[in-house]
Amino acid sequence: MEFKQPVLLYTAATNVEAHMVVEMLHANDIPAHVMEDQSGVSLWALGTISQFHQPNVWVDKSTSQKAAQFILRFEETRKERENPDLNASTDTIPVECEECGTTTFFPGTLSGTTQDCSKCSAYLDVGELPWEEDFGVPDE
Ligand SMILES: [Zn+2]
Repeated sequence: MEFKQPVLLYTAATNVEAHMVVEMLHANDIPAHVMEDQSGVSLWALGTISQFHQPNVWVDKSTSQKAAQFILRFEETRKERENPDLNASTDTIPVECEECGTTTFFPGTLSGTTQDCSKCSAYLDVGELPWEEDFGVPDE
């Protein structure tokens, strides 16, 4: 597949993700392909670079804006898949106080706000972002 003006659309975390993106784009009539990062870097790193291997998804410039919309949607649905409770904002959220250990329940509508502990009035962050744990912690 040849593009007139190849544009780097997306750097995927894994080959699987890159191919999911490409399949999604193809399903929406956007030509795209994966360029796996084999840029000779592995030669310097004696092969250990494989764990940093980040495949890139390329599209033609003429479709890149449309493709970017699909990428945004892809990212959204992926977050929802990984955090199925995220949209359940009507649920009650238990928050344990770091000061006194009391668990206070807040309505899901207060998610993302700061409230007071029911016992000691310390600040409590309601509905901590559950995906934060996924960042910065490499799989061992
Ligand atoms: Zn407290």
